[in-house]
Amino acid sequence: MKCRQAFMYGPEDLRIEEVELPELKPDQILIKLGACGICGSDVECFEGKSAEGRYDIAPYVPGHEWAGQAVEVGSAVTSVVPGNKVVGECALACFNCANCKDGKLPSACLNMREVGFRPDSPGGMGEYMILEEAYTHVIPDDWSYELGAWVETFNVGYGGVWYNGCCPDASDTVAIIGGGPIGLCASMVSAESGATVIVIDPLEARRENALKFGADIVVDPTAAPVEEQIKKLTNGRGADVVIECSGNDIGIASLFDIAGNSARVGVIGHSIGRKVPVEIGKTIWKTLHIAGVAGPERWFPRTIRFMSKIKDKYDFAALNTHHFDFEDIHAAFDMAVNHKDIARKVMLTFKD
Ligand SMILES: [Zn+2]
Ligand SMILES: [Zn+2]
Repeated sequence: MKCRQAFMYGPEDLRIEEVELPELKPDQILIKLGACGICGSDVECFEGKSAEGRYDIAPYVPGHEWAGQAVEVGSAVTSVVPGNKVVGECALACFNCANCKDGKLPSACLNMREVGFRPDSPGGMGEYMILEEAYTHVIPDDWSYELGAWVETFNVGYGGVWYNGCCPDASDTVAIIGGGPIGLCASMVSAESGATVIVIDPLEARRENALKFGADIVVDPTAAPVEEQIKKLTNGRGADVVIECSGNDIGIASLFDIAGNSARVGVIGHSIGRKVPVEIGKTIWKTLHIAGVAGPERWFPRTIRFMSKIKDKYDFAALNTHHFDFEDIHAAFDMAVNHKDIARKVMLTFKD
């Protein structure tokens, strides 16, 4: 079967091509795409600023924030039937290598594939994609594809709070560094626990937006030293929980200053491949518990249940500020790359 898919060949070299899809293996699902978000990491790959997109073995089909409909399932598939709306995981474990057998996460898998970043695991920026059943999850029929396309992002924010063991409750003040998509998801998750949520971001538009997605208070880190601002808001205690979602050097360094004694700290902001100067000694004197995770395994079903519970409380659709038909993918990337100030989430849509 032929279909059209987008291929990243190199920085700023994105091409739509017609390809012949391979035959479905018994454990695979053929998925017709309904929506696919452009992630900050897709933008970084497009700009040539990230090694995550594997240009050394390119071309590859990008897109890890997708939702679609199962149209055909392999002979061994039991949990998905044609017609189901589905989403899928990004980091794919092999389940057979020494680390997988040792119970480690997919990010430790010695044969890890990564949907939307490598030729061996094509992503959702195409009319159709193929994914194994083990990584594919059914979403409720009454969800839009665009809401489904938020599951992967929400999964990261949710895991950053709960898989990392930060476990906020109503007694806690949670400081979230960064009000981008991941930060907003961490903010909603924290708010649902009853905690007081502070979102820290230098951009006014992001701060205003955060107030609609779980934040009780927003802080401009450029207005005054952020440590002082957080202390003032917490009666001098500092934050009980800190979730680093910015991946920004100054943001990362600030977590050691704003965390209170015995604070639980979750780190999920993208910052691989560079060193960030931080006052690490505060980990000792404040007895900080710092954890990181790159997409927790077996977490999607929880994420889907969580989002089902809150999807009418928060306006997810309002986060998708721009929509482009898949065929206009170049204009979509132009918006995501060159208009970061106004483009919150750029969403690719597909014709029926
Ligand atoms: Zn992403
Ligand atoms: Zn493995």
